Amino acid sequence: MEWASLLQGIIISGFMGLVAGNFATSPIFRLPRKESLFGKDPYCGDCNAMLQPKDLFPVLSWLSTKGKCRYCGAPVPGAYTFAEGSIAILFVVFFLQYGFSETFMLLSFSSATLIALAMMLYIDNYFSDRTFGLLLALGAVYRTLTEATFYGFAGGVFAGLMIGGAIWKMSGKPMARDFSAFPPYIKLLTATGGLLVFPKFIAILPICAFAALIRDQKKWLPEYAIIGCAVAMLLIDM
Ligand SMILES: [Zn+2]
Repeated sequence: MEWASLLQGIIISGFMGLVAGNFATSPIFRLPRKESLFGKDPYCGDCNAMLQPKDLFPVLSWLSTKGKCRYCGAPVPGAYTFAEGSIAILFVVFFLQYGFSETFMLLSFSSATLIALAMMLYIDNYFSDRTFGLLLALGAVYRTLTEATFYGFAGGVFAGLMIGGAIWKMSGKPMARDFSAFPPYIKLLTATGGLLVFPKFIAILPICAFAALIRDQKKWLPEYAIIGCAVAMLLIDM
């Protein structure tokens, strides 16, 4: 690629990533609170002030008010801004690897979805089944498109479910019948198994197992490990 068109692509993909990241902060805040995604315009969760356009610039608004609400001074968690920034960076990296293609779109949105899941766990200790469903769907489309067969995705989901179930069994915690009551790490292993080609999926398991062993006080450490490794594996082209 010529440098001018490369630069143009970086700017466009970065802009798309900031828009996607900015949009993602809405479900990250609203899904744990069981709010409708489009029912209400953006507002401050502390004072309910409606946010103005100047409050909604990705990253910059947060920096300009030093991480506080402009209207009531309540701290705005930096995690929202982290989500915006990291999603923007991922869009640019996937553009550099794949240009503007279906792979770029699917990998960018899959990793944005993974980051949204991690942020909801981090900020609100909430695992969103709807977002998990979206991740499964993205994985199904991506694998079927790149492998021209559905079997890779289906096998990966099955492997993830089995491995997660085995870990659950070994942990000695009581099993649940209802999938919605399954621990988040099983759901994440299931979705990650669907998204990643098999060698990549196997490669992340030792790190996740290690995170499970050292979790101690950090409640969601295995979940963060699965998400972080999955994003890293999506970035590796093979
Ligand atoms: Zn406020």
